[in-house]
Amino acid sequence: MSAPNSRVSDAIRYDDVRAEPIVLTPEQAAEVAKRAEALKKVLSDSKINAKYKIEVVFGKARGAVDVPTPGMVSFWLNGSKFHGGGDEKLYLCPGRTLKKSDCEAIMPAFSNTADGSICPSCGTIWKSENTIGELFFNLPMRKWAEVVHRYFRLFEYHCDIYLKFAPLDIRSISRAQAAKTTWEGSKKLANVREKRAKSIYPLRNIIKDINAGADIEKRFYAFLVA
Ligand SMILES: [Zn+2]
Repeated sequence: MSAPNSRVSDAIRYDDVRAEPIVLTPEQAAEVAKRAEALKKVLSDSKINAKYKIEVVFGKARGAVDVPTPGMVSFWLNGSKFHGGGDEKLYLCPGRTLKKSDCEAIMPAFSNTADGSICPSCGTIWKSENTIGELFFNLPMRKWAEVVHRYFRLFEYHCDIYLKFAPLDIRSISRAQAAKTTWEGSKKLANVREKRAKSIYPLRNIIKDINAGADIEKRFYAFLVA
């Protein structure tokens, strides 16, 4: 139970990134309706500023689009006045990853307490090191597009997508961090954060593309391979 927050994503199977099943329970149907409503709201506001930032970092190793590429995903609250304009790192409830529940809710910084981090959705108190700060995948670009789409939905369709390249072996750093979290490893991951984005797909443009009838997952794919 002392899994570190930098989980090596071999543990996350491709099945886990698929969209909803076709036969929906009433709860799931309600959830879909809720999402559709959220999307409609986002789409109706052309001057929107994204609440969240999804950051995808590929290592130097990115090859042909159908060859698996290792990379890392992290989530941020877009610069809030609250924190002097800096982005605030967000965590996910590890319930689903640890197979304790289906929960994968967003855990904002204020969920941290002396006893651990309280998930605002399922109410579980987790050790802070169990909450998920980064996800690591090794996937071909089509599946990376699914991953981005999945987290775009999870983060309420309210995200800018940042793409970065880091000239280092993310996978080996993450493996090392998973075995033993070190200050040096954390520093390397923080350095990745400092990299300038190679490209940004801002929510405004995503909205424009969706309103123009684009298949958003295809747009994410195009963004990732551009
Ligand atoms: Zn939870």
